[in-house]
Amino acid sequence: MRGTWRIARIMGIDIMIDPSWLIIASLTVYSLGFFDFPRQLNPRALRPTADAISIVLGIVGTLLLFGSVLAHELAHSVMALRRGIGVNRITLFIFGGVAQINSEPDTPATEFLIAIMGPLLSLALAAIFGAMWIWLTLLEPMRLIDFPYRPFILIASLLARINLALALFNLAPGFPLDGGRVLRALLWNWWRDLRRATLWACRGGQIIALILGGVGAFLILREGNLGGIWYGLIAFFLWNAARDSYQQMLFREAVKNIPISKIMTRDFSQVSADASLQHFVDGYLLPNREQTFVVEQDGAAVGIIAHADLQRAPRGQWGAYRVKDVMTPLANAPKIAFDQTATAALAQFARAETEEIAVVQGAQIVGFIGRGEFWRFIRLARR
Ligand SMILES: [Zn+2]
Repeated sequence: MRGTWRIARIMGIDIMIDPSWLIIASLTVYSLGFFDFPRQLNPRALRPTADAISIVLGIVGTLLLFGSVLAHELAHSVMALRRGIGVNRITLFIFGGVAQINSEPDTPATEFLIAIMGPLLSLALAAIFGAMWIWLTLLEPMRLIDFPYRPFILIASLLARINLALALFNLAPGFPLDGGRVLRALLWNWWRDLRRATLWACRGGQIIALILGGVGAFLILREGNLGGIWYGLIAFFLWNAARDSYQQMLFREAVKNIPISKIMTRDFSQVSADASLQHFVDGYLLPNREQTFVVEQDGAAVGIIAHADLQRAPRGQWGAYRVKDVMTPLANAPKIAFDQTATAALAQFARAETEEIAVVQGAQIVGFIGRGEFWRFIRLARR
């Protein structure tokens, strides 16, 4: 994805950082290191000021906080991988994290398990840090060993609260939050109707957005608390995400019902594998509108050749090369079976830099789907 940085790769999943994450990360370091921690480290001081310790703690606290978000997303991802769904990447951005999985869960059980794992992990982390916090708080007055209790107590308490908040917020029953996915899985299982389940789970998301927006407005107007702006932003983000999620599901359902035969073109020319490259350029590529050609040998398709394949031969030596020297063999060419639906083509175009997919029936090429025509067709079908 453009504009994001890859910071790590865990279990084959790219961990990405969106530039907007830097805004929230620096705000967090600032508010922890310059306000919260100085106050908590010097509870008796009238105007506590930041020092090296509070700033270092602010940085450590921020990193662990985002480590918690990452752990939450990894929990979703591990379950997705176990249920046979690939995970492209995890992106940290201004509102937290998101794990991008390759395809939507195909059963309510899979959706439920993937969705519930994140909040469960956050709850477990909250319990662990909460226990640490209580334990250190009890040990501190005894002074059994010389140990910097205060900083560890502050970090443990911060992480316990953050992970608890992460779990509870994500469990709110509004799509696309985890709780909304759990709700959709339950409704889907009950009604056996994905469209209806998604509609209601997304309405749940919009209701949660309205509540958050209301809380934000209350904080700003009645309390004069500018933290309400943050609630407003999350509400706006959630409202749009819920609406888009429902549209996307309708789109996926529509695509699922389009047979490949309806979007492929059956006009294509064949060129002999033994023809010279110069002959191919002059006789096929230049006079024709199409860009991809089937290469045949003894009446059978053995590969495809397109404009881009010409790069495999030095310019000016096209007479010395034959078509089969530079073609893409059928085994390596992007292809799709004639009886599949547009969903399969969508997945291929989304994944690879493919411009054209060959449609095959048995060992024969029966047509092509070009990226441009494919999207034109999909846009029309959407209306
Ligand atoms: Zn989650």
